[in-house]
Amino acid sequence: MGATPGQGRQAGGTPRAALADLLAGNRRFVSGQPIHGHDVTAAAAASGDQQPYAVVLGCIDSRVPLEAIFDQTFGAICVIRTGGHVLDRAVCGSIEYVVGQLGVPLVMVLGHERCGAVGAAVDALRTGERPGGSLAYLVDEIAPAVTEIGFDDPAVHPLAIRRHVRRTVRTLRDDDLLAGPVAAGRVAVTGGLYDLATGEVALLDPG
Ligand SMILES: [Zn+2]
Repeated sequence: MGATPGQGRQAGGTPRAALADLLAGNRRFVSGQPIHGHDVTAAAAASGDQQPYAVVLGCIDSRVPLEAIFDQTFGAICVIRTGGHVLDRAVCGSIEYVVGQLGVPLVMVLGHERCGAVGAAVDALRTGERPGGSLAYLVDEIAPAVTEIGFDDPAVHPLAIRRHVRRTVRTLRDDDLLAGPVAAGRVAVTGGLYDLATGEVALLDPG
């Protein structure tokens, strides 16, 4: 990535350095050599003002604990998790806060293989049976990605997972308070995919 791991933690760090740090953490996790434990002394060490360098929006899936898969300690990253990383105003407002008030230069949207939320949207479109309650909101928000692929496509589930990540990235790049910093290059919004079997995070559109 052309950046030294650790640079992302400096105040005013670049999106590129932040991404390099995040991916370096994932490589530590994958290699079975994490350096960050989750003990109370680490919590105490980070008990002053927070200076996170990235915000990760991921799914609620219990197999994708974000601080662990990026080997991040207390105070390093802000984490937001919803079913299928679906956006709503609370999520967007939280990201706007982290970027605008805390100066975080990187927003990562992380999807994952075999996502149940995307599967629910595929099922709803195939059967024509929309779920009740607020689950309908999740399905409705994911449905466009499924429709774009075509719900009768045999590979719709993995393809829609990727499409939904890209759609979420685009929505955030166009967000009222994020579009300016993104256009100025101060903030990057990037999409990734987590492999449940290997623990690896791959960028969907590395650049
Ligand atoms: Zn999921």
